[in-house]
Amino acid sequence: MDIAVIGSNMVDLISYIEKMPKEGETLEAPDFEIGCGGKGANQAVAAAKLGADVMMVTKVGDDLFADNTIQNLEKYGIDTEFTVKVPGTSSGVAPIFVDPDSKNRILIIKGANQHLAPEDVAAAAEKLKQCSLIVLQLEVPLPTVYRAIEFGNEHHIPVILNPAPASKELDFEYVCKSDFFIPNESELEILTDMPVESDEQIQAAAMTLIDRGLKNVIVTMGSRGVMWVTKEDVQSVASHTVKALDTTGAGDAFIGCFAHYYVKSRDVLEAMKKATAFAALSVTKRGTQTSYPTVEEVEAFLQ
Ligand code: ADP
Repeated sequence: MDIAVIGSNMVDLISYIEKMPKEGETLEAPDFEIGCGGKGANQAVAAAKLGADVMMVTKVGDDLFADNTIQNLEKYGIDTEFTVKVPGTSSGVAPIFVDPDSKNRILIIKGANQHLAPEDVAAAAEKLKQCSLIVLQLEVPLPTVYRAIEFGNEHHIPVILNPAPASKELDFEYVCKSDFFIPNESELEILTDMPVESDEQIQAAAMTLIDRGLKNVIVTMGSRGVMWVTKEDVQSVASHTVKALDTTGAGDAFIGCFAHYYVKSRDVLEAMKKATAFAALSVTKRGTQTSYPTVEEVEAFLQ
């Protein structure tokens, strides 16, 4: 097993609407789509699409979305032995309303994701020990994230922590034990209370996290690229210029791809370059997981 993603899954319920109904009003809307998402699942799928052996430790409800989620993960070859159903609970869902101007209104119901507990890390321990990398985000309870970081440390498995969505409650005693901390600029801003308008400001904000004990901070900056900050050095990779159609899940694309190439080569800069190409390609297509390219498409793009 190459990569263990311990984290969330969600089902996106996307209604394409002409206008939002008022209180008490019922309106028809032109279209509807179901999509598989959740930061954890997106990152797992991104790595699996590139050929990584991925397992996912996650929880689903006991509704019809549960089987849909499990089937979707398995379609990409992801190991679901530790994708567990929680009786009497709904799966994580995100009702999304998209208006004709492509503006979104999103509700997130975490459902079963809130039941992913530190004990679930223990339950998967034997399989997790065989992994080369652990990937974490913050859509599941923080104690679970902390236990997973400690598990990685105990077994000398590197840990990527994507602090998304940003939480002010993050305990840096644990966070500092992760090997790669990968926020986007707005998460960096929330975590540091510092401005992130310019590259200099982003570097200064990232450096405060290094001062707090983090080893590697990699900030994704949308169309402006990505910056890797350590105590000794700062290195950047520029974004590719593409026609962006839908940037949803770009950060997850970056992290899943980075994880895959880091496991393969242990070369951080090389993994950042591949992930920048992978994420750029993903924004040229609509959707999240379905927009993630294959390894052939990434290689062709980089020719
Ligand atoms: P998030 O989805 O978490 O907001 P970002 O917007 O920082 O994350 O995007 C992650 C990565 O995706 C960026 O570092 C970049 O490599 C790529 N990316 C995002 N938006 C674009 C874009 N408009 N053009 C090219 N690459 C992009």
